[in-house]
Amino acid sequence: MRIGLVLLAITMMATQALAGSWPDGKRAAVVLTYDDTLPSQLDIAIPALDPAGFKGTFFLIGSKITPEQIPRWRSAAAEGHELGNHTIRHACPQANYPPAKKIDTSEAYDVGTMLTEIRTMNTMLTAIDGKLQHSYAAPCGQHLAGGIDYLPALRASGLVRYTRSADPSERPFDPMDVPARFFPSNATGADLIAAVQEAERKGGMIVLGFHGVGGDYLSVSAKAHAQLLAYLKTHSEAIWVAPFSTVMDYATSHPGPLAIGAARSRVQPRTNSER
Ligand SMILES: [Zn+2]
Repeated sequence: MRIGLVLLAITMMATQALAGSWPDGKRAAVVLTYDDTLPSQLDIAIPALDPAGFKGTFFLIGSKITPEQIPRWRSAAAEGHELGNHTIRHACPQANYPPAKKIDTSEAYDVGTMLTEIRTMNTMLTAIDGKLQHSYAAPCGQHLAGGIDYLPALRASGLVRYTRSADPSERPFDPMDVPARFFPSNATGADLIAAVQEAERKGGMIVLGFHGVGGDYLSVSAKAHAQLLAYLKTHSEAIWVAPFSTVMDYATSHPGPLAIGAARSRVQPRTNSER
């Protein structure tokens, strides 16, 4: 009898830990991220997010920010969207660009020059949004400079606290290597919603990655994006939608969602190579 009561208590504690893992007892955390400073993000994605009350994370490439865009990105940040660091030149390994021969590939870098670029991009972001900390997403999801993995040096530098990857695979939680799920251009609203529903079922966290929305490249349609937002809005009692750094601040200071979000991330083959 006593053993039975103990088991019951343990079961109840485990259930409560799952149910109360995210703020306000929400069941899952969803992070909406958008890469590469694309005009459709300003013209379509943000105007869709704002009326729904959702804030996304926009990983900006410094060399693609036009002077005319700066007030718009500044305004987006002031409204609660997060501006993240996606380097200045978006240098990826040549292998990401076949058959085109690119000049500014990451083979031309060394670890020091890459970290200098990340530091400079942080400064550019601070000039736009006034914030002193920015999260990071490595171009093409590849943290290579001159063929050397620069993630250890980036960790040691303290330049960024959180790094979003472009790889959805399950692995131990690491705030400097957070899984993310990208989608092919023919993804439907149902496809996007299904990914969220799996995170809901597991009580975890999912980081969704987008490029263009209804335009530009590697795009999902504006309709599919809108359907995703409508689902998130309808299920807002159970789903916490917040920028990447906000969710990571919470996850790293609350052990429950950290463990749940890490251990139960969806395992999927990469469906769309990051550009
Ligand atoms: Zn990119």
